[in-house]
Amino acid sequence: MLRHLFGASATSETMLGAIARDAQETGALTGRPEFSDAVMDAMRTVPREAFVPKAEAAFAWENRPLPIGHGQTISQPYIVALMTELLGVEPGARILEIGTGCGYQTAILCAMGATVYSIEVVEPLARAAAARLTDLGYAQATVRAGDGGGGWPEHAPYDGIIVTAAAPSVPPALVDQLKPGACLLIPVGRAAMTQNLQRICKRADGSCETTAVLPVAFVPLTVGRS
Ligand code: SAH
Repeated sequence: MLRHLFGASATSETMLGAIARDAQETGALTGRPEFSDAVMDAMRTVPREAFVPKAEAAFAWENRPLPIGHGQTISQPYIVALMTELLGVEPGARILEIGTGCGYQTAILCAMGATVYSIEVVEPLARAAAARLTDLGYAQATVRAGDGGGGWPEHAPYDGIIVTAAAPSVPPALVDQLKPGACLLIPVGRAAMTQNLQRICKRADGSCETTAVLPVAFVPLTVGRS
């Protein structure tokens, strides 16, 4: 019924307009006043309403985070688009994601042509996301329950790593699992008001260059749980 009331394509265009405006407004900080067509197409294609609880479906195409249960959220679409843009995802890329949540960012990466390994610490969320991604046809996603702080060494090295919960400091295991030339996107900081999205790119000689991209507000990465 909501589809009839709101019209899926019109509302996805509303969301894309809001993302484009946010990108423009933050462009001086992020260096990306416009996102690539590939990122915007992925944001248009992935049905965000399929990733939110029924009670939130009417707001699915709004450019803001929404509750998904277990005290967690689905990220703001603009932030999902920005992190995807800064990750530099090429078709065929192998990406590690820490913090699957409902699986929305995972689906966006799959829509970009990536193979995604994703870890979620809340087991019921991991199970629900895995089932949802399979149902929606995102077969290149593999989700496992557990603490992602140590990465997923079995599938390393990665063409990109994205952490969608805020860490007090950058887990060294994640940097180890990056390919030379690849980047890690991670919100760093303890309190919501002091987090900064960092982009850490590994050079050919294994050293890293860190850029502070933007102040952000993510749920915390739980440390030491599995
Ligand atoms: N990527 C999601 C956003 C998820 S919110 C999206 O597309 O909307 C962050 C998620 O990180 C939460 O589901 C939380 O349970 C998870 N998380 C927190 N600490 C974690 C850890 N140590 N390992 C794996 N997942 C973690």
